[in-house]
Amino acid sequence: MPKYQNYTLKNFRNIPYVESKLSEDEKFAIEVVGNVLPFKANNYVVEELIDWDNYANDPIFILTFPQKDMLKPEHFAHVAHLLKSGVSRADLKTEVNKIRLQLNPHPAGQMKDNVPEVDGVKLTGVQHKYRETMLFFPSQGQTCHAYCTFCFRWPQFVGMNELKFAMRETELLVKYIKVNPHITDILFTGGDPLIMKTKILASYVDALLEADLPNLKTIRIGTKALGYWPQRFTSDTDADDLLRLFERVNKAGKHLAFMSHFNHGRELETEEVQKAIGRILNTGTAIRTQSPIMKNINDSAEAWAYMWRKQVDLGCVPYYMFLARDTGAQDYFAIELDRAWQIFQQSYQQVSGVCRTVRGPSMSAGPGKVQVLGITEIHGEKVFALQFLQGRNPDWVCRPFFAKYDPKAIWLDDLHPAFGESKFFFEDEYPIYRGVENTIKVVEEEIV
Ligand SMILES: *Cc1c(COP(=O)(O)O)cnc(C)c1O
Ligand code: SF4
Repeated sequence: MPKYQNYTLKNFRNIPYVESKLSEDEKFAIEVVGNVLPFKANNYVVEELIDWDNYANDPIFILTFPQKDMLKPEHFAHVAHLLKSGVSRADLKTEVNKIRLQLNPHPAGQMKDNVPEVDGVKLTGVQHKYRETMLFFPSQGQTCHAYCTFCFRWPQFVGMNELKFAMRETELLVKYIKVNPHITDILFTGGDPLIMKTKILASYVDALLEADLPNLKTIRIGTKALGYWPQRFTSDTDADDLLRLFERVNKAGKHLAFMSHFNHGRELETEEVQKAIGRILNTGTAIRTQSPIMKNINDSAEAWAYMWRKQVDLGCVPYYMFLARDTGAQDYFAIELDRAWQIFQQSYQQVSGVCRTVRGPSMSAGPGKVQVLGITEIHGEKVFALQFLQGRNPDWVCRPFFAKYDPKAIWLDDLHPAFGESKFFFEDEYPIYRGVENTIKVVEEEIV
């Protein structure tokens, strides 16, 4: 089996396909954009997933290699000029950071609103927004096997917000779960927690299993490793240990929920990924899948229907279709709510019920996860029907509400209440629930 080899801005020109197929302009564009947004690929993605005969339109190429149009023309021109004039690293960094700050590096108040504390210590590696599920960012899991060009966590990969965690991570974690009996799920996320060696991941997971936490039912691992490095489950030196860890969780009576990020059916086609899925399922683990819907990558009903069918064929459960977050290269990827819903509807209509476990299209916005249920007309007014799939206030969930139809809207912020109302039903309560468990405000300076 080939060993993991990664490609960055320093060595991507040596990739044989890049060297032989891309023009100098294209290579330079990767460099320009890659200086602002993070770039990392690896030998599996490059050799097994990308169709180099058609790279310009290839979804996985666009998913991993920065594209010229991902920056605004003036930003692109500015960085191109700096690179060509040979500025110092320090000056380049200053200028690049100015651009990054214009790309909404912290969407939906993530850093400020959702960080809880226990015993007077802020858990900067935890976000707790929805009652039942807390997110945990283990400090060693904050990178990935490759970087997605759409990633909303991009600021941490370029060093704009180091996620810092106190020393006694697991003790505080256990304590927090203990004093919050509503928590049933902990979701290990990142970056990609499966970038961690099994030994390190196990030190966190075993601590949870050993602690007396009757309320904790589910340990979720949010990961892109199946898409970007399935060898993590097959031939890596600690692949078998990882599968044994999964078994341990399931045998301890907790549910190990593997939340797999797949953006395109292509990622499900290799022998390696299929073998990896089989091995994970054999540990008693369930694999659920999710992806944003994005222009230039998966913006067709055929792409989604194919992906969901393929996932179900392989024993996975489709879970979420997201809308692209309002950060980074969102202009490049964003799809109007109208079109996203049509694609959802058309793909959902052509698959059987076993694929219809998926929910979406959903926006992870400040107040919660908001699903576009559809577009309809009520008493002559064209409207979006919406509902919360998750809400800062659990009571908001599953209540249909309506916004004026707007063909250009791409995010909750673009929407206005229908029927002449002045606000949405949750707006009065939003300030109360915003940060209710979150006594800590991370100061802006710490992030930059
Ligand atoms: C999506 C999300 C979760 C998990 O939500 P589920 O609907 O249970 O999958 C938890 N926390 C945050 C902040 C999220 O965005
Ligand atoms: S794998 Fe996830 S966290 Fe990593 S770059 Fe892609 S979207 Fe971002």
